[in-house]
Amino acid sequence: MTLDRLVVIESGYRFNTSIRLYYSYISCMSSLKGENPSNANEGCVGPTSQDAGKASACAGCPNQSACSSGSFNSPAAIAAKEKEKTVLQNALTNVSHVILVLSGKGGVGKSTVSTQLAQSLSSRGYSVGLLDVDICGPSIPRMSGVVGQTVHQSQQGWEPVYANPNLAVMSISFLLEEGDAAVVWRGPRKNGLIKQFLTETDWGVGGLDYLIIDTPPGTSDEHISIVQYLNDARPMMTDGNGSGASGAIVVTTPEEVSMADVRKELNFCKKTSVPVLGIVENMSGLQMRVSDLSFFRDGSGSDNGDTITSNSNDCTNDVLALLKEKCPEVLSMVAATDVFPSSGGGPRGMAEKFNVPYLGKLPLDPNLLKACEEGTSFVDKYPSSPATSPLNNIVDKLILALPVEDDDGEENDAMKTD
Ligand code: ADP
Repeated sequence: MTLDRLVVIESGYRFNTSIRLYYSYISCMSSLKGENPSNANEGCVGPTSQDAGKASACAGCPNQSACSSGSFNSPAAIAAKEKEKTVLQNALTNVSHVILVLSGKGGVGKSTVSTQLAQSLSSRGYSVGLLDVDICGPSIPRMSGVVGQTVHQSQQGWEPVYANPNLAVMSISFLLEEGDAAVVWRGPRKNGLIKQFLTETDWGVGGLDYLIIDTPPGTSDEHISIVQYLNDARPMMTDGNGSGASGAIVVTTPEEVSMADVRKELNFCKKTSVPVLGIVENMSGLQMRVSDLSFFRDGSGSDNGDTITSNSNDCTNDVLALLKEKCPEVLSMVAATDVFPSSGGGPRGMAEKFNVPYLGKLPLDPNLLKACEEGTSFVDKYPSSPATSPLNNIVDKLILALPVEDDDGEENDAMKTD
């Protein structure tokens, strides 16, 4: 069997009766620029080049022997590649905008931003797909309230799980026998699944206004693959060097440790011609209503072994009662403190330096965390929480940047209502 159509049936995953997870190494034969394989070395001369397999950049490349043998260039490989492009194009033809959500590090709120943007857009009446390609750490199902669900297969492909009538979710979690199972896969296998998500998910008859893709942290194989698949799927959206993705939202926390990695992410976007829709500064200070705070007596000097926040030191009820009696207006004030110090102009300065939009700050807001744990739409459930208005502003900016056309072809960037 030739490598260009190797299909592996994977057992042990839960697919309603006949569904089987398969992947093909054909993904390795696709390209970011020209026909370079997704897993090619830096400086790849391209599999169709006369130097393919022989150039210095080919040393150690997993495709070296295929390139030297000319199999990338064979009529069968070219036909397979064309077929793959057609399948990708057909699958995403009804999707107006594809948004990648990126971050340099894990834990900075990428999935939170992906999920809550999707929830907010769907609440405003847009038709939204949320695709979780963070294959080794999928948190989207929990955050969108559909954990433990399964996908079903119809004649049209995989039916995503609906978090609400306007929000379709697809994640590897829905395919696993056990939600907590560890996914230990190498790059090509992950890439194969990502392509399957893109080609086989049936996003519904009306298609999608927005497809939001939650990616793993960093810039890995998966990022290169997804950009390349989107280029193949949406060639009309490219401007020569351009990207099939409508754009990327880059999430960072304010401190230098996170921003250093985000700069790599911004350079990745530049290199792959993915437009940057903007930077979201997440966890920018802790903000809470005074009435939601807890208060503790400082018992740190005592030798009873308790930490300050142990129950024995809790005096929240006393303090709130005192405030209510003496200065009730304080209870509705917002208490704020910086958690991650920003340096060198912070994420806003970085946005200016890279000449990309700055979408705004989201404070650390315990209600945002709660909404993600509960799998609900934060802005709907907590309309007056400190992070609500900043999140709504980010959604407004996103809709302005990527307006959706009405059925009559008019741009509709006004907020939709049901
Ligand atoms: P990542 O996807 O970057 O790994 P997550 O979105 O999973 O990060 O966020 C990590 C944790 O932090 C989650 O529990 C999430 O709910 C929480 N979190 C993220 N942003 C905020 C915020 N602004 N306020 C409160 N909690 C947040």
